[in-house]
Amino acid sequence: MGSTTTNGLGPGPKSRVIYFYDEDVGLYHYAGGHPMKPHRIRMTHELVVNYGLDKKITILRPDRSTRKELTKFHTDEYVDFLKHITPEKVEDQEQLKARFNIWDDNPIFEGLYEFCSISAGGSVAAAKRLNEGTFDIAVNWAGGLHHAKKDSASGFCYINDIVLAILELLKYHQRVLYIDIDAHHGDGVEEAFYTSDRVLTVSFHKGGDFFPGTGLVEDIGAGKGKYYSVNIPLDSGIDDESYHSIFQPIMQHIMDWYRPGAVVLQCGTDSLAGDRLGCFNLSNVGHGMCVDFMKKFNVPLMLLGGGGYTPKNVSRTWCYETSRAAGVQLDQHLPYTIYFDYFGPDYLLEVPATNMPNANHRQSLEKIKRTILEHLRHITHAPSVQMQQVPQDHFSDDEMDAHESGDRDQQTADIRVTRAERDAQVVRENEYEESDDEGPGTERKHTARRNRVYYSNLGMGMGGVTTDDELTKGKGKVGMGLPVGQDGAAEARMDVD
Ligand SMILES: [Zn+2]
Repeated sequence: MGSTTTNGLGPGPKSRVIYFYDEDVGLYHYAGGHPMKPHRIRMTHELVVNYGLDKKITILRPDRSTRKELTKFHTDEYVDFLKHITPEKVEDQEQLKARFNIWDDNPIFEGLYEFCSISAGGSVAAAKRLNEGTFDIAVNWAGGLHHAKKDSASGFCYINDIVLAILELLKYHQRVLYIDIDAHHGDGVEEAFYTSDRVLTVSFHKGGDFFPGTGLVEDIGAGKGKYYSVNIPLDSGIDDESYHSIFQPIMQHIMDWYRPGAVVLQCGTDSLAGDRLGCFNLSNVGHGMCVDFMKKFNVPLMLLGGGGYTPKNVSRTWCYETSRAAGVQLDQHLPYTIYFDYFGPDYLLEVPATNMPNANHRQSLEKIKRTILEHLRHITHAPSVQMQQVPQDHFSDDEMDAHESGDRDQQTADIRVTRAERDAQVVRENEYEESDDEGPGTERKHTARRNRVYYSNLGMGMGGVTTDDELTKGKGKVGMGLPVGQDGAAEARMDVD
């Protein structure tokens, strides 16, 4: 670790950071040419370790989520389908594919269920550790899969680890704030909590004709959740300065008024400059300023991954954000890793903005900001949390096994009481859990646009909304941008860029 400054930013305050990583996550492969590359998580981890950040944070391999855990949000039949399906078995199963939204964007690949249980396991473990109070910030770059619905796949996402993590946080916190800085609307999470005032969701995303097509300013929640969904659609080319001219005042207002007990920040990196699918123009520093800004409130913070389709930029940015979480300043010169060659010709940590035009004008951003702040005035000022009885936590035996030492278990037990005193609130354990005919995901029928649209539509640029009808007629297979019949292994080697 050197002392070169990172674009003039200091390291920021130190925090207790726990970071979840399962080395198997890099082994999974969606399909030849598919833009989602799970090995970007491994690239990130290689940078984290070779920068020496592992000495500054606690790294744990999380337990994989069990079927029982996954069905706290998802339907039994969907989880069972994911558990038992194989690439061979799914051939010719047109009905099942249609039912669970399995197609080129969301393929069945070898080890899919394990991949999902690793991703979800990390986010749920992160929530449990934040609930314990032993860490200030919990990181799971394998999580953040915000499009998954309770009964189907969407936008490369199968299991919504974020919803599962928030459900875990709600056992201890009366109010949870979810922020989504991925280039795509965080529709799956918003939909799950659309009628609840206990989870406030905020999504900054590319608006207009862009997957998934939802997330208008006027989509504000419903019922008790009215005004607790916040959407900030943006135009292409947004740069660091424009982004923060709207991000910071809105988040400041929400933190002041909503006063959440925990914050979940989905750090999708397809909002970076030069992303293969995105169209924003953020640098790693501008993206990381969202982490910096939320960190300063000193509220338990979860950092999750998400989109991000230029792996060399994804990994540099998530490594940088890990360092910001820990309050460690990194040298701009990248350490040697097995992926070193991909970072040429400069081999630097920075992901610079490009010269693409910014279609977001000051006046239009001001107008959106004013409208959002106007909506947020309807949020009643959150009361101080009263002291109440706290439920026993729900550690599985497996989870307890993951603790590294008895020392920490002892420490944890003590701190749990402190946490209880601070923001205790009784939460009925099953309040948000799935039942047969009602649940968080069922409540948004009037606004959810269920048209199936392309996420990975490389061939059609930023647009390419395709309806179910068109897909049924077979048009959906054209222009997918996913080459057919490529050799998976060969593709995997080329996938790093
Ligand atoms: Zn995205």
